[in-house]
Amino acid sequence: MAKASQPCFIVGNWKMYKTIEQATEFIEKIIPLAANSSNTVMIAAPYTAIAPLAKKTEGTKVVIGAQNMNDASEGAFTGEVAAVMLQEAGAQFVILGHSERRLYFHESDEFINKKIKRALICNLRPILCIGETFEEHQQEQAKAKVKEQLEKCLAELDKSACQQLMVSYEPRWAIGTGLAATPKIVQEMTSYCRELLAEMFGEKEAKKVALLYGGSVNPDNAETFLQVPGVNGLLIGAASLDPDSFAKIIEIPQNVQKQVV
Ligand code: PEP
Repeated sequence: MAKASQPCFIVGNWKMYKTIEQATEFIEKIIPLAANSSNTVMIAAPYTAIAPLAKKTEGTKVVIGAQNMNDASEGAFTGEVAAVMLQEAGAQFVILGHSERRLYFHESDEFINKKIKRALICNLRPILCIGETFEEHQQEQAKAKVKEQLEKCLAELDKSACQQLMVSYEPRWAIGTGLAATPKIVQEMTSYCRELLAEMFGEKEAKKVALLYGGSVNPDNAETFLQVPGVNGLLIGAASLDPDSFAKIIEIPQNVQKQVV
């Protein structure tokens, strides 16, 4: 019955939802709840809402971030956003390699690796998303897939990056499907990720990487995933859009976490 020793991160990924007005209304409801929560509450907002939300959350316990960025420092890349621009807008973290970016925008592990390096230069905390497809899951290729993704996405990183790095295990078949992974799968896959990180960066540094689970998390199953040993938080899509369901998740007290194996 070990208690959580690290902070627990509850990250909402809003995807392409919420205007500035809707985002502000949501954040006003969440700020007081986050103040009383033992968890670190993070919102990955659409680009347009980052600056207003960062201003609104100044001095509060809510942390605002982005869902993507380009790897270049600046340049003629129409429609892209640079890390330094996100930083200026008040973003403190950025989701990189989300399966929707990989699927619809054909992002490769090599590209994601460059983005992670750029994010770190600009003091943006990267949340790297990894996970296998349904076919790979069926063919027992999940571990091979996350190994490949982790090794390529984190190639040539200095071990000092571990302090900043967050990795979210998000099996593609669980994202937006209502079909969450089981706690057993989450435990097996996240502890495998931790082993791989230890091989890459050494055991001591690997322990500093925050490992999250994402995929159809909701107020009914969130606690079960937070209880999985080695899981440091959750990345939440659909259930982060509704302030009431998100509130139920951020209110899960940290002392109920990690008490069940
Ligand atoms: C996500 O977008 O990363 C995600 C996990 O979505 P959902 O919670 O809706 O499955």
